[in-house]
Amino acid sequence: MRIGIVGCAGRMGRMLMEAVLAAEGCRLSGGTERAGTEFVGRDLGALLGRESVGASVSADPRALFAASDAVIDFTAPSATLAHAAMAAELGKVLVVGTTGLSKDDEARLAEAAQAAPVVYAPNFSVGINLLMALTERTAAILGDDYDIEIVEMHHRHKVDSPSGTALGLGRAAAAGRQVALDGVWCKSRDGHTGARPKGEIGFATLRGGDVVGDHTVMFAAEGERVELTHKASSRAVFAKGAVRAARWAAGRTPGLYSMRDVLGL
Ligand code: NAD
Repeated sequence: MRIGIVGCAGRMGRMLMEAVLAAEGCRLSGGTERAGTEFVGRDLGALLGRESVGASVSADPRALFAASDAVIDFTAPSATLAHAAMAAELGKVLVVGTTGLSKDDEARLAEAAQAAPVVYAPNFSVGINLLMALTERTAAILGDDYDIEIVEMHHRHKVDSPSGTALGLGRAAAAGRQVALDGVWCKSRDGHTGARPKGEIGFATLRGGDVVGDHTVMFAAEGERVELTHKASSRAVFAKGAVRAARWAAGRTPGLYSMRDVLGL
């Protein structure tokens, strides 16, 4: 299976190339970066501190889609939408890990998924997807006597907040309670906020250092507290999960799939 990586010089892009090179039956079909960046034209292997892999960073995503069975995209929302249109046009598998997509962006991704298999997940780690399933089930069992708070910490370079994964956990908790997250969420608190409304799902964000990604979902009642925690210590887990998703999506009918579909959770 030929897999291409857009945004291949990014933190995740490099991990994704390593994961493709390590995956049995997969070949790295190429990588792209934004036109005009210093990486364009450099050997893909050199980016990884390895020997040449016989291909260099290109600024032509359309050619990469044409030469690939699947493309993995961990870039930025505007780039991801352009890539989704190309996947739809050429009917290629697209795996999207980019976070920070707006509702409109997600609607455009879903539109593209009418013509190509698209796997979109705020977090491609197997552990986090298990945590999502456990969060939904726990919220359903405990009910709204238990206040739900979601705490996340990431490295200092992260630009969106709360993390896409934290929002995904919030959606899972809301689904367990059979409500819509955007009717009950509180994404930050400051000053005199008043007492906590019943049924609210709160978020707290920490940023610092090189933390890859910590998430805790708390269910706090009078007299007890349940906490479900996941800590990622290497970005390689996201890359491995994304390659697994690309292989799973190969040959599927067009549609918007999640990592929970890939794992059968
Ligand atoms: P990064 O800034 O290191 O890398 C992004 C790369 O994309 C950069 O190299 C940038 O030049 C490139 N890029 C941007 N626009 C492009 C375009 N039009 N064409 C080609 N390349 C383009 O960031 P990162 O830490 O690698 O994270 C990237 C995204 O992945 C973020 O949205 C992050 O939140 C998300 N992420 C998701 C998961 C997950 O499991 N879903 C895990 C980690 C990170």
